[in-house]
Amino acid sequence: MPPRHIAVLGGGLTGLSAAFHLVRRFPTTKLTLLEQKYQLGGWAQSERVEVRDDAGTPYSILLEAGPRTLRPNANSMLELIHLLGLKDSVIRIPKTAPAARRRFLHIPGTKGLTPLPSSIPSVLSSSLRSTFIEAFRNDFFRRGNRPDSDESLDSFMTRRFGESPARLLGSSLVHGIYAADSRLLSVRAAFPSLLDAEDRGNGSVIRGMLRASQKSEHETYDVGDIRALMEYTSVYSFRDGLSTITAALAECLKGHSHVRLQTGISLKSLNINTDGSFELSTSANETIRPTHVVSALPLPKLQAILPSAGSLTLPHLTHNPISSVKVVNFVFPSSTSFHPAGFGYLIPRPEGGYDVPGNPGILGTVFDSCALEAQDSPTSAFTNTLENNARPPIKVTMMLGGPYSRVLSEDVSFDSLLSHLSAHLQRVVPDPLHARMHHHKDCLPTPTPGHLTRMAELKEVLEGGPWQGRLEVIGAGVGGASVGDCVEAGRRVGRAWS
Ligand SMILES: Cc1cc2nc3c(=O)[nH]c(=O)nc-3n(C[C@H](O)[C@H](O)[C@H](O)COP(=O)(O)OP(=O)(O)OC[C@H]3O[C@@H](n4cnc5c(N)ncnc54)[C@H](O)[C@@H]3O)c2cc1C
Repeated sequence: MPPRHIAVLGGGLTGLSAAFHLVRRFPTTKLTLLEQKYQLGGWAQSERVEVRDDAGTPYSILLEAGPRTLRPNANSMLELIHLLGLKDSVIRIPKTAPAARRRFLHIPGTKGLTPLPSSIPSVLSSSLRSTFIEAFRNDFFRRGNRPDSDESLDSFMTRRFGESPARLLGSSLVHGIYAADSRLLSVRAAFPSLLDAEDRGNGSVIRGMLRASQKSEHETYDVGDIRALMEYTSVYSFRDGLSTITAALAECLKGHSHVRLQTGISLKSLNINTDGSFELSTSANETIRPTHVVSALPLPKLQAILPSAGSLTLPHLTHNPISSVKVVNFVFPSSTSFHPAGFGYLIPRPEGGYDVPGNPGILGTVFDSCALEAQDSPTSAFTNTLENNARPPIKVTMMLGGPYSRVLSEDVSFDSLLSHLSAHLQRVVPDPLHARMHHHKDCLPTPTPGHLTRMAELKEVLEGGPWQGRLEVIGAGVGGASVGDCVEAGRRVGRAWS
């Protein structure tokens, strides 16, 4: 028997993807999605602004406050693109483009940007040569030394590659993806492919990477011709940004008469009655009694709506820290080119740690226009009057905060960020045409060592007791924070309910 009524809590990428796939799986089941904000999409927040370049031409510029680019390896996303008919909105960045091949570090205490090698031969001419040679030497000649229990990415990299590669390369990577401290992040939860490589290489990660993975995909995805479209693609986005996906999911759900999308309504409590039925109460003083529930809320938010004692408490919901960040979008005139072509740069953890007075807490900067210029164009009335080679204004995004927690409570001025940008690039940075700062509180969970075991324990509790598998808990804090992970979790939810 299909469920009678499913409630999906949270209208971010995970909740919307869950609702979409549940409607496909249970086409006659009533479904209610509850989202506390008026806008659906969670952290996917794309916005168009009109900016006049220095010749006075108005341009429509797409800015992202949240996710901006996706890797084509997430089949669940390719499937959504196919099923929602979004193929023509996709912008692809080929593997040969500078935005795919050129990434930089700004190493505190040094001047300018240090290019990251993009191939094995380029390691030899790189100024990071000694770091990479240290990493190769350590990993090739050290015996297998994996501990019995899960460890942090920093501990993994130090164990295999050495301290300096762990700090310079590992901490930068984690700043760019999780806005977190690599010493806190579980390698097993966040980078399982590194452990797989270590297994294949009998201890050596590099040897393992050189041996092809034997793992095969058991799931089948309805991707149409999207996988072929993504061949030779490094990353991709959409002409109107990542909100294209959430807007298309919402539109699709609105087309079903038995689906109710309730926005601007926050969940206040989740209970189970003596007859086993769920009872959800909302900020609109409504009581909803679904037979099945999917929580796609951040885990501490789920904890807040559960009773604080008794059989309905759930383990581990507040175990992991959650990073907060400031995301700053700048738009500059296109007449001055002031940064190199490439994806952008990351800044590793300073040698003295995060708590250094005067450190602005910048984690990295993305040169958005290099990858995503196709999102921007003159506003329609001006399209025909422009020279063919006219370029849209240049957009750049800085991210700060995360492990630099002190920075989050301090005011940061645009001027100070621009002078840091100028120092990092060793170039004069022009006055911006537009600047916007977003304060994202508790936006990126950091799965700490032991996360997968804790989540397995949570799942076990949900399968028994009063829950009997009728509440499923998914989202960025459970199974991975990338957009692909969130969509995949939504795709898999409720499989045991038929
Ligand atoms: C700045 C930033 C940049 C990122 N960049 C990338 C990227 O480039 N590529 C990539 O793959 N990933 C990226 N990510 C990660 C990815 O975007 C997120 O992990 C993902 O969007 C999380 O989706 P979610 O639905 O699980 O959570 P959320 O988006 O947090 O959704 C949860 C929803 O629940 C709602 N809610 C909370 N409490 C209640 C309540 N009581 N009642 C009702 N509703 C409630 C919230 O309002 C929210 O809409 C980025 C994330 C951030 C923050």
